[in-house]
Amino acid sequence: MCSKTMTETFISSCSSKPDDNTARLREAIQQADAVLIGAGAGVSTSAGMTYDGERFLRHFSDFHEKYGIRDMYSGGFYPFPTLEAYWAWWSRSIYYNRYVDAPKPVYQQLLKLVQDKEYFVLTTNVDHCFQKEGFDKARLFYTQGDFGLWQCSVPCHQKTYDNEQQVLQMVQQQRDMHIPTELIPYCPVCGKPMTMNLRCDDTFVEDDGWDRAAKRYGAFLQQYQDSNILYLELGVGSNTPSIIKYPFWSRTRYNPDAIYACINAGQAYAPEDLEAQAICVNQDIGVVLQQLLAE
Ligand SMILES: [Zn+2]
Repeated sequence: MCSKTMTETFISSCSSKPDDNTARLREAIQQADAVLIGAGAGVSTSAGMTYDGERFLRHFSDFHEKYGIRDMYSGGFYPFPTLEAYWAWWSRSIYYNRYVDAPKPVYQQLLKLVQDKEYFVLTTNVDHCFQKEGFDKARLFYTQGDFGLWQCSVPCHQKTYDNEQQVLQMVQQQRDMHIPTELIPYCPVCGKPMTMNLRCDDTFVEDDGWDRAAKRYGAFLQQYQDSNILYLELGVGSNTPSIIKYPFWSRTRYNPDAIYACINAGQAYAPEDLEAQAICVNQDIGVVLQQLLAE
């Protein structure tokens, strides 16, 4: 991954005015036969679901003081000493990032923009915001898991379990950063502890829902990859470029009628050889969506 970024030359929105690029993007959306949205963490950040700073301290100041945890992302990797402490952290993190609505209407704006188009969403986000905000479930592919699902930690079987009721209980009943021992979830099949359905290593469970979404994603590509398709990348950082960013670039190269658009405050860029097909908007996603909807 690193060598790839070292050897390519990139263009960014610096080469022209952001407003011009927004106007080009508006036209590209209007003219597209289909829009494939590739969404990363930046969309939820723009919607106010920040994992650090004031929002983190508002909900996790006790964990910050006791364990020195600095943000919600790194806290997910902290080696908590007991399952009671582990689930106190995770239930609170799941609750605020999965079951509470985003403060700003970025997802609703995005839906307004594409709802009358043939669209599909590929996302590395695990916070479920697309579905919560009204996107058609059959047009979503959450590749990296879902905060709202648990799985066996072994895993001894390929199934996931909704966690909403148990998470609410854990949040309500935790004291001094510990949940009651009887609320610790165990696998109904083998009795080992349950864990989050998040892709961290090769124990990630791809259940039936995941498989069906993967097939629908494949079918969407099959149907539209040779048409006037817009690959719309939103808030994808540099952590996992092989899931959205690099495939979007190579798919755009493959089809001269395709457009690659990237909205990402401070991080919008594209390879130089795609300059004629690329639109980079280096601004906050929510601000750009607002502008796109304004006319
Ligand atoms: Zn099991």
